[in-house]
Amino acid sequence: MSKIINLNKKINNQEITSQELINQTLKTLESNKNLNAYINIVNKYSNNKNNKTSLLNGIPYAIKDNINVQNTITTGGSLFFKDYISPYDAHVVELLNQAGAIPVAKANLDEFGLGGTGTFSGFGHVVNPFFKERITSGSSSGSAVLVANDTVPFALGTDTGDSIRKPASYLGIIGYKPSYGYISRFGVFPYSPSLDHVGILTKSVTDVAIVADCICKHDEQDFTSQIQEKHNFYKSLNDPIKGIVKICYLENILDFMPSENKNIFLDSIKKIEGNKIKIRPINFPVELIQAIAPVYKIISYSEAVSCYQNITGIPFGQKDIKQNFQETISHTRSKYFGKELKRRFVFGSYCTLVENYDDLFVSSKKIRRLIVEKAKEIFKEYDFVIMPGSSTWAPTKTDVETKKYNDTLIDDYLQIANFSGYPSITLPMYKNNNNFIGINLMGYMNNDKQLLTIAKHINYILNNGD
Ligand code: GLN
Repeated sequence: MSKIINLNKKINNQEITSQELINQTLKTLESNKNLNAYINIVNKYSNNKNNKTSLLNGIPYAIKDNINVQNTITTGGSLFFKDYISPYDAHVVELLNQAGAIPVAKANLDEFGLGGTGTFSGFGHVVNPFFKERITSGSSSGSAVLVANDTVPFALGTDTGDSIRKPASYLGIIGYKPSYGYISRFGVFPYSPSLDHVGILTKSVTDVAIVADCICKHDEQDFTSQIQEKHNFYKSLNDPIKGIVKICYLENILDFMPSENKNIFLDSIKKIEGNKIKIRPINFPVELIQAIAPVYKIISYSEAVSCYQNITGIPFGQKDIKQNFQETISHTRSKYFGKELKRRFVFGSYCTLVENYDDLFVSSKKIRRLIVEKAKEIFKEYDFVIMPGSSTWAPTKTDVETKKYNDTLIDDYLQIANFSGYPSITLPMYKNNNNFIGINLMGYMNNDKQLLTIAKHINYILNNGD
């Protein structure tokens, strides 16, 4: 049920003050320190306003530590920024400030978002609160954990490949990545700007809508930010479903998942189907789905290596000045970057070498276009695509360390929403002891309002949630 509305009522009825709520959150953070879900506390934050008209007034939240909060250490999950104090608030933080919401914890993440396990932070592994041997997935690992274990009613994350939606699937919560350009990335550390999105993690679609109403706004400081009308996501959540909603799933891709999980998905879509919702199987070219992983890697690692050229050890971050520029830059990057970041940067540098650029980077962008065109065709006939939120339960840490864990085609499927910029939301689908698996719904570009309305409907059918 909506935690934000519940807390807002308590604050308005003077059953609790916002300060007491913050103190409670700090206490919970302290007692769950062993989960390693946050890197720093946002201390005595005072940029937020008192906005009595907003449902978010006085509500604490967690924020992935690649998003700047003024006068607070923002590390990006990297030791290179372990002492870096943000001089300003990111645009999303400013918008939440105006609504009166309060950032309390900077959540742990895979370094600069370049990872999908929660094990690649300079500040140690994020622990799955339900099943210690299993990973949380990432890179918005800390944000997802702090929502999953009820420390905060909502958290902000970023999603370049699936970094909000994958941990949501493994931890039984909701993860929403809006249409590209809906949420400004001003003040957010980049990973791969043509794929990067800021998004929201919560336990109810109602809370997603309340937060999205606040932060989905045009920002002229981000040149990819879309000009948007006032959305009113929250108000339209209960709009009656007009006509018949046509949903499809990619039947041939399901064969790449374990039959146990496939059957859970097929049972769930049977429950969702009804008078107003029709769900049909379609086929998607397997060779295009197989191309997603290499194309994603080439584009995202190449963009990342370009974005982080500015980490030289001279203008900001850790400063270990050596004899000359070359030595300083190589020393700084070798000393402070983690293994996975280095691996991806080596790969990205190779793809952007002048002799490889056309064959690797430019060709990948062409294949990306083919995948997006194919996805676009689906929306001529269907309103949404529904798929499992991940191919299986969260893998174990040993699976990751021994590289036994490989994303399958189902997992790659989620990246279509980053290639295209289409909105996408993962909801809880099934729980088996402490294992979770989600269900994902993708809509057409800028069709976020209808996506959230249907998501709420489905969340009610599957989880009795709102
Ligand atoms: N699985 C993706 C990766 O490892 C997720 C990254 C992201 O969305 N930030 O790159």
